[in-house]
Amino acid sequence: LATFGMDEALKELGIQAVNAGTSTGSQQMSSNELIESYSPVDGQLIGKVSTTSKEDYEKVMQTAQAAFAEWRVKPAPLRGEIVRQFGEKLREKKEALGKLVSYEMGKSYQEGLGEVQEMIDICDFAVGLSRQLHGLTMHSERPGHRMYEQYHPLGIVGIISAFNFPVAVWSWNTALAWICGDVCVWKPSEKTPLCGVACQNIIAEVLAENNLPEGISCLINGDYKVGEFMTKDARIPLVSATGSTRMGKIVASEVAGRLGKSLLELGGNNAIIVTPDADIKMTVIGAVFGAVGTAGQRCTSTRRLIIHESIYDQVKDAVVAAYGQLRIGNPLDENNHVGPLIDTDAVGMYSAALEKVVAEGGNILVEGGVLQGEGYESGCYVKPAIAEANNEFEIVQHETFAPVLYLLKYSGDVADAIAIQNGVAQGLSSAIMTNNLREAERFLSHAGSDCGIANVNIGTSGAEIGGAFGGEKETGGGRESGSDAWKVYMRRQTNTINYTTDLPLAQGIKFDL
Ligand code: NAD
Repeated sequence: LATFGMDEALKELGIQAVNAGTSTGSQQMSSNELIESYSPVDGQLIGKVSTTSKEDYEKVMQTAQAAFAEWRVKPAPLRGEIVRQFGEKLREKKEALGKLVSYEMGKSYQEGLGEVQEMIDICDFAVGLSRQLHGLTMHSERPGHRMYEQYHPLGIVGIISAFNFPVAVWSWNTALAWICGDVCVWKPSEKTPLCGVACQNIIAEVLAENNLPEGISCLINGDYKVGEFMTKDARIPLVSATGSTRMGKIVASEVAGRLGKSLLELGGNNAIIVTPDADIKMTVIGAVFGAVGTAGQRCTSTRRLIIHESIYDQVKDAVVAAYGQLRIGNPLDENNHVGPLIDTDAVGMYSAALEKVVAEGGNILVEGGVLQGEGYESGCYVKPAIAEANNEFEIVQHETFAPVLYLLKYSGDVADAIAIQNGVAQGLSSAIMTNNLREAERFLSHAGSDCGIANVNIGTSGAEIGGAFGGEKETGGGRESGSDAWKVYMRRQTNTINYTTDLPLAQGIKFDL
């Protein structure tokens, strides 16, 4: 762990390498089952985290409930002040946390830092928002009455997150939930549990410094079985779940079964449309970064390039040539472009996808493969691949969470490309590369992209925290982060006040006694 200063980073984050216990709320929990976290970078065991048992979970929930009673009555700007201090702590620990994200998840150090920066940004956003949690006022139909609406804290927010953004997704939820007066219980991905422990340690420090209950932020650990504690728990009015569509369907029906709310951020199958009026240089940068960044393990990764036949060969050659320049290796080494996949299961899915596309009649343009030898001992490094395919192929219809890019050809006008882009079950991110105003506007129109995110002359990958983030169809329909996404973390109440001595009934109904 001495390489790239990992042991210092772990120390700074309060994590004992190997055998770290988890702290949940104010209590040190005990459990026999341990999750071992191995780095996909070099295959080394980084640490062990105890799984949360049902008994421990009950203690956590009691801690969270008690904390909510206290936290919800703090003025929102004061809650904002705590989030401001949390943002400051993140600034101090940015390098250490960015390094841990890179080492435990496998994304580049630069992307790890970017993820922590997103946490800082959402804190800044939430601080301002803490003075803007406003409702509307309406004119009452009854004389001498006043009517308005207000937003109140919801309660305990359950957060279930995916491995690929092991820290940012938590903060997108918590920063907003906290200023809204909620408390949070978080179950990080079982593939990145130490990132969860590191975040919990940082916020616990802020809460202790302010004499606030630790239960404002709780951490539980384990796989889907521990996630189910929350989806089945009526004490949790909102479950925010980020991950695969398969998981989202189960979580949605479980939470709906008890009439709870769920906020779902699920898989994507994102495409860039490249029209005859596209700037090819920009297209290549956007497409290649979108397809191979984070080794194709972003929900917004570019999976499909939909290219007009008139420029197809030109774009194809440029993208293939760019793939020739990619350096694959240790993501903590800033000279490399592509790091490892999360684990060998993910490698298996990547290899199966490449076999499937060939079986369905696809044509491999850039050969994939699993890398072996020095520097690749973890068995998680793969070569980014490109295949020519049809949108109708079953494999193209599914999200493969790996660096596999499909080239699809269209003829006719932009409406044909939009039909291909929309012709999948997912609806997260989409983009068009064009200098033609008519094409761009058509893409953004009512008859255009059906995704939650639609970009012009930007790739599909990544997003700014100021906008609402999320997608339609099998992506789940949830929105997080900016704009008015905060409203899902609160309950709305309509209030009518009568300041007369009469009691006129609504709708003019007479009820004389
Ligand atoms: P995953 O679905 O395997 O796991 C995600 C989380 O859900 C984990 O914490 C897991 O333990 C939990 N979980 C799984 N089944 C559950 C159940 N039945 N009940 C409760 N919890 C359950 O996903 P992953 O492999 O970690 O992440 C990759 C996926 O996440 C991709 O599909 C990606 O597109 C998606 N993703 C989406 C967004 C978005 O904002 N739309 C962001 C990041 C990742």
